[in-house]
This record gives sequence, C-alpha cells and structure tokens, in this order.
Amino acid sequence: MIPFENTWPYEVLMNDIYVRECPFCSTENVILPLTKKELVSIREGKKKLLVFPCCHQHLKILDTDSDYLLTDRRLRRR
Ligand SMILES: [Zn+2]
Repeated sequence: MIPFENTWPYEVLMNDIYVRECPFCSTENVILPLTKKELVSIREGKKKLLVFPCCHQHLKILDTDSDYLLTDRRLRRR
C-alpha cells in the first residue's frame, strides 16, 4: 500500500495533465510532462520518473487512480 502522504491530486484538461499546486514549490496550475497514454501505462504497472517543470523536483509515479498520483515521495505534511 502506498501511504496517503505520498499521493497528490491531478486534473485532466483536454490533453493536458496538471496539478492545481506543486507539492514542492507551491506554483499553481502546473502542467505536467505526462500524457494520458502514460497514465494508462503507469496503471498497468510501468513506473514513471516525473520532473516538475516549475522547480525540477522529481519523484517516481508508482501508480495512479482517476484522481491521484501515487508516488515514492512524501508530499503531504501531517
Ligand atoms: Zn514546483
């Protein structure tokens, strides 16, 4: 199980996948270098290294569901 602290919500708008806020630098509405096709392959078990374009922080996406990216880094504070 991937802990909730390691999850982050994403949004899909047309062909763009974005987050309302970057978990690292708090930039708003960051479009991720990620495609819908890649979301599907992640769900099928492929891991994906994601580099945020705003601050170049990186994490590995281990899984996704329809709302959240499930990652290898803690993104939420308690
Ligand atoms: Zn950032």
